[in-house]
Amino acid sequence: MDRSKELAEHYRDFVRAWKADEHKARMAFVDVCALPVPERSGDTTRLYATDIGSCPRKAMLRILGKAKRTATLAEELMYDEAEMIEARMAATCLWQDGLVDYQSRVEIRDREGWGARLDIVADYGGLTGIEVKSSRSAAFKFGVRKANHDHQARLYSHYREVPWILFYADRGGANHPEQYKVDGDWSATGLIMDELEACRAALPDLPPVLDKVANERDRKKTVKLEPAWECGYCNYADISCKPLTGIKTLASRGHTDIPYVPKPGLSPGERTILDDYLQKISEG
Ligand code: SF4
Repeated sequence: MDRSKELAEHYRDFVRAWKADEHKARMAFVDVCALPVPERSGDTTRLYATDIGSCPRKAMLRILGKAKRTATLAEELMYDEAEMIEARMAATCLWQDGLVDYQSRVEIRDREGWGARLDIVADYGGLTGIEVKSSRSAAFKFGVRKANHDHQARLYSHYREVPWILFYADRGGANHPEQYKVDGDWSATGLIMDELEACRAALPDLPPVLDKVANERDRKKTVKLEPAWECGYCNYADISCKPLTGIKTLASRGHTDIPYVPKPGLSPGERTILDDYLQKISEG
């Protein structure tokens, strides 16, 4: 692969060749789809790379085998599209004779009961790992890169001992893909792994639900206390976990140009959350 090009350019070159019916491109995609994917371990107590930096309660609910919501058809189609994007990226690497590994296990040598499966390792003028993420178009406005994605890719990079790239594609096609080199502090990732292991050791006691957060709503006329955004995407929410779904108004104002007035009867904790939030927005 040409190191000076972004992954998105390689991806585009591949898709163009594929659409032009170029035999090698077509076969690369077929060959990637036919590659064996490692079977899931039957060990239900495992922790996974994707748990690092996500809600620890969610990982523990999975370990305990708690009930969760089944995916809707729309979600199944979304997961399918995400897998297609990943397969096309792997096919891009294969088409360029650079695919080294696809969907293979990463051995967590120094810890018990962990599982990890990388997306892609490619020979990119030197080995490079690629973690492919897909996102809805609106997420690109707020920043698609999430701390848990960095932890996940950092883990692969640490145990495979090659640099890693996070590649973000827009499932809706409205944004140019984004890519980031994964760097940062491995020890921070290791500390979260320690915490997850401690949570697992403490089962059946569960970690607390994620803290609720303050958000401006109603065209900036109210500040509301709402469940963390992760809870909105969690399939345990309101089935095995009650993330305090009630939404409470902390403060309001008649117009956007007068200050927020706190609602009467806020608890000290709610007052602190409101004060911190108002401080944050006053700092821009
Ligand atoms: S609903 Fe929220 S607090 Fe509960 S497990 Fe899911 S993400 Fe965690």
